[in-house]
Formats: sequence, structure tokens, C-alpha cells
Amino acid sequence: TMAHSEALLVLENFIAGKFVPCSSYIDSYNPSTGDVYCRVPDSGKEEVEAAVKAAKAAFPIWSSKSPLERSQILNKLADLIEHDLEAFAQAESKDQGKTITFARTVDIPRAVYNFRFFASSILHHTTECTEMASVGCVHYTSRAPVGVAGLISPWNLPLYLLTWKIAPAIACGNTVVAKPSEMTSVTAWMMCKLLEKAGVPHGVVNVVFGTGAKAGEALVCHPDVPLISFTGSTLTAQRITEKSAPHCKRLSLELGGKNPAIVFDDADLSQCIPTTLRSSFANQGEICLCTSRIFVQRGIYSEFLKRFVAEAKKWKVGNPSDPTVDVGALISKEHLEKVRSYVKKAQAEGARVLCGEGVNSLALPTGNQKGYFMLPTVIAEVKDESSCMQEEIFGPVTCVVAFDTEDEVIERANGVKYGLAATVWSSNVGRVHRVARRLQSGLVWTNCWLIRDLNLPFGGMKASGIGREGAKDSYEFFTEVKTITIKH
Ligand code: NAD
Repeated sequence: TMAHSEALLVLENFIAGKFVPCSSYIDSYNPSTGDVYCRVPDSGKEEVEAAVKAAKAAFPIWSSKSPLERSQILNKLADLIEHDLEAFAQAESKDQGKTITFARTVDIPRAVYNFRFFASSILHHTTECTEMASVGCVHYTSRAPVGVAGLISPWNLPLYLLTWKIAPAIACGNTVVAKPSEMTSVTAWMMCKLLEKAGVPHGVVNVVFGTGAKAGEALVCHPDVPLISFTGSTLTAQRITEKSAPHCKRLSLELGGKNPAIVFDDADLSQCIPTTLRSSFANQGEICLCTSRIFVQRGIYSEFLKRFVAEAKKWKVGNPSDPTVDVGALISKEHLEKVRSYVKKAQAEGARVLCGEGVNSLALPTGNQKGYFMLPTVIAEVKDESSCMQEEIFGPVTCVVAFDTEDEVIERANGVKYGLAATVWSSNVGRVHRVARRLQSGLVWTNCWLIRDLNLPFGGMKASGIGREGAKDSYEFFTEVKTITIKH
């Protein structure tokens, strides 16, 4: 169905500082209404070729600017996005289905902060130097930008994750060709409109819109793009690894998770319950860091479950533009069906669905009847081997199970292919450190969730990724190091 009331929004690629139309387009849906409201360029080899050429041409001048000059431009861009924060938040909410509140308080402020953060951090790096007095030598390392960086991002936190790559890439002096998700391209296109005013020279940031199979793969296979920074699913990462192997490309891969929360019987439930609800259902559960397996120590299991389910039922699902709504729409019809199928599977296996999908009814406003909505869903008594406990669901579904001992819960928490984020709830400091060390997880939050210092490494183990992002980590990824020896 087509939205008749408003004209379709038509996006264009941004190449060499200019918006350029594409020969074919993809429909993009408003997840909260089910209407097509936007057309996204269906770019392929040709468009990627033009963008890489522009990025290559811009590299010599951009890479020779001082870090301070680049830093000032990044800060200006941050100011411009912040100035339009409300418009960006509205666009992100409409395009992705997330609540306006989440877009206003998380997505867009973080996109602004990504530029500010790397504008600052790029000024503070030092390289190493060693001395070998006995042979009259000093050795030092020098770092230089690599060239044209290919950046590929997912649909769950569109501008937030795209800028988390663009900011460090250009701060380090690289030029970029970015490909946002074809399902959420609008805010990247809006950002392109601000680049010139911020002082970003033509060709430094190029954005090609389109699908992964066409535009994404053309970027991954392009011989003049020596590094690819990718955030998305593990399956796509495997494909990217294969396709880039003949070129020996440098890869940064931020992938999926199956994140455990471990709740010991000495946990402060007044903190743990509201935070674990957020970690399960924030952004419709569509955050790579979302909790989807909650292990609760047996002594407090029934109390936890009772309180958790009662609170989960209070989460309001509905029109994302309503500021009182907690859960918006899922990204697509297909994704909604996939998430629902996990709940059905769990039921068929004998698990108990305590609230949400199939249990409670969902009343939607008139305009949202065809949107992709789902109630926060809590499943209990599900076996560790079940696909609901093993696979990333990426929706508002969380499983709660009981455990007895520390050793047991660590083994079970580690018993999945992923290793991205974990939360541990306990007031015993010694236990918290012990458990954190033994969890196979790139991030461990104890007695909290999602509090990040961007200085420190972010990323996953096992099938959750390769490489880390952060002040030092992104700097190392986006630069090439050289060791130089001087004999006097
Ligand atoms: P996806 O892998 O389907 O797509 C991600 C991006 O890759 C999109 O831009 C897509 O067009 C592109 N792509 C798809 N196939 C490609 C190919 N063959 N070659 C090149 N590019 C290709 O992932 P998604 O569904 O958009 O996002 C959800 C996934 O992202 C979840 O698994 C989630 O956990 C993960 N994620 C991870 C992090 C993290 O930091 N670890 C953050 C957010 C999301």
C-alpha cells in the first residue's frame, strides 16, 4: 500500500559532494503503518565505482590536513546535527519504527557525540618510541591513514552506528564510502546535506544507498577499498570475509549476540528488574547488546519472575511518535514473523510464555493497524538447547531460567556461539570480578547495563565479532602503523 496523503521521499546517493540520482530504486516502508513512504537508490557496481573514485581523489588533501583541522570540522558537523536534532529524531523514528523518545534521547544525541568524541580523541594519540643506546639507535612508530574505508551498517541504530564508523575513519584522515542499511537510509541522507556546511571537503564522505547483495558486495569487492568496517549479522560477516579474502582486506566485524543476564540471590532487585526490562525490550529488543537469556538463582527465581512479568506487562506498545509509548514497531513484516516464530517454537517445545505474544492482546491505534508491532514477551522453562536460548532473536523476547551454582551458570552462559555482552547482578564484589573474568563476552556490565565510556574497547568474542572499536582501537583500525629505526 502507498501513503496517499504525502509525496514519497526520494533519496539520492551522495558522491563527490553532490546528490546524484540512481537508475533504479527500492521501496522503503514506514514500519509503524506498513506504508511505502520512501524510495532508496538501488545502487550497484557503477555507483560504488564512482564513490570510490571520489574518495580516492579526496584522500591526498584530507589525509594531509592536521588532526586539529579535521577535529574542527568534526565538531562543526556535530553542532549542525545537534541543531537539527528533533528533525533527525523524527526521521529515525519514522524510518526505523523506534520510539521518538528513544531516537531523541539515544540515537541522535549519540550520533552527535560520536563526532565530538573522535574530534577530541584524535588530538591525544601518541606513538611508541624505544631506544637502543648500545647500538646508537632509536626506534619509533608512525601511523598514517589507510585510504578509502568501506563502512557498512545495520538498521537497528542507523545514524548512531554509521557515525560511530564515519567519525573515527575521517578523524584519522581516511576518506569513506558508506553504505547504510537499505531499510533505514533516511538519516544518513539528511547528514549528507550538512557536510558541506561543516566544511567536509567533497569526496571525503560518500554515501551509496542500496542492498547488501548489490551495493554492499560491490564495496567489499572493490580493489581500491583496503578496509571494511562492518556492523551487522554473523551470516553477512561470513560472506564479507569470503568476498574480501582475495584482496586480504582489513576487517572490523561487529556482529550479533545472545546476551546473558546473571542474577545472583544477593542482587538488588529494585535495580536489577527495571534495568533488565530495559536491556530486554529497549528499542523493541533490536539492539545487539540486548539481554535475551536471564539466569536467576533458584532462591529468588519465583519472586524475580513474578515481578519481572508484572512490570513487562506495563510496557506500552503503540505509535512510535507518541512520547508515552515504550515499544515501537519492529523493522519489517518479515522480521516480525521471524521473531514470532521463535515464540511459537518455544511453546511447541513445552516452554511457558508468561506474557506478550499469543498471551495478551495488543490494541493498536487506528493508523497503526498494519504496523509491525509485538508485545514484550517473557518465556520461562525453556531448555538451554532450544533455538530460543541459542539463536539471536533480535526482538522483544526474553527467556528466564533458574540456576543453582556459580560454576554452573558460567558454563551455561558461555554455552552459545556468541560472546558480545553480559550483565551480572550481585552485591558480592569478589564474585562479580570472578564471574566477569570467566564470561566469554567482550563486554560485561555488573549491576548496570549500556553504560559506555567510548574510550574503552567495544566488540565481541566468538561469533560476535573480530576487532574492537573505541578511542584507541578505532584509531589503530583506521591507521596503518610503521616502525622506523634511526641510527646516529
Ligand atoms: P545484516 O547483516 O543483514 O545487514 C547489515 C548491513 O550489511 C546492511 O547494510 C546490509 O545491506 C549489508 N549487507 C548484507 N549483505 C551483504 C553482503 N553480502 N555484502 C555486503 N554487505 C551486505 O544485519 P541487519 O539485519 O541489518 O542488522 C542486525 C544485526 O546486526 C544483528 O545480528 C545485530 O546483532 C547486529 N548488530 C551488531 C552490533 C554490534 O555492534 N556488535 C550492533 C548492531 C547490530
